[in-house]
Amino acid sequence: MSKKHTRREVLGHAARGTALAGLGGLTGLLWMKANATFAWSINAQRCINSRLGAVGVEVCERCATECVLSLSAVRAVNEFKACGRCYICPAYFQITSAVGSDGLPTEKVCPRDAIKREAIGWIDPDDPANNFYEYTIDETLCNGCGRCVLECKEPAGLGSIRLEVRHDTCLDCNRCAIAQACPEDAFDRPEPT
Ligand code: SF4
Ligand code: SF4
Ligand code: SF4
Repeated sequence: MSKKHTRREVLGHAARGTALAGLGGLTGLLWMKANATFAWSINAQRCINSRLGAVGVEVCERCATECVLSLSAVRAVNEFKACGRCYICPAYFQITSAVGSDGLPTEKVCPRDAIKREAIGWIDPDDPANNFYEYTIDETLCNGCGRCVLECKEPAGLGSIRLEVRHDTCLDCNRCAIAQACPEDAFDRPEPT
């Protein structure tokens, strides 16, 4: 004979079921994050800011403006081994701005002052143009606006800076707002198999 359940028991079962389903969903999400199988990423060959051969184009700032987070999950990354460590980096200095008394352009490309410039290695005390410079991006300030990425491209730059999705902050939205807005279809996520 089947046992009759009280309303309290039925509600208890339902609540436990929902909690277990939630736990299952959370476990799945954590597994996906840990394995990054379905994570969004940026295809640098398609992104107009970094695509080689795309000269004379306007910067695309949608990675900074379209993310659902107030500070976008996208950041600029400088790949040091590809960087020329230039004295006058076109991604750091606004090279068309007036020249100061030190012989350097007076304005910077980054509107958030997120790029740090530091002479590295042996320092020539008499001629700063002889030194190598490391350009590091402060991820707490960068919002992925892409301006430096666009400037670090031929003819002046070497293309060492690119945009990347930071998976520790990205919410892995099913319909990523940047992917929806990207004019180049550069925001990518592998389909689950
Ligand atoms: S992407 Fe924009 S905010 Fe980030 S370092 Fe480059 S210019 Fe600055
Ligand atoms: S998936 Fe969401 S949080 Fe991540 S970059 Fe896209 S809009 Fe931003
Ligand atoms: S929206 Fe697309 S083209 Fe624009 S910066 Fe982001 S990845 Fe590049």
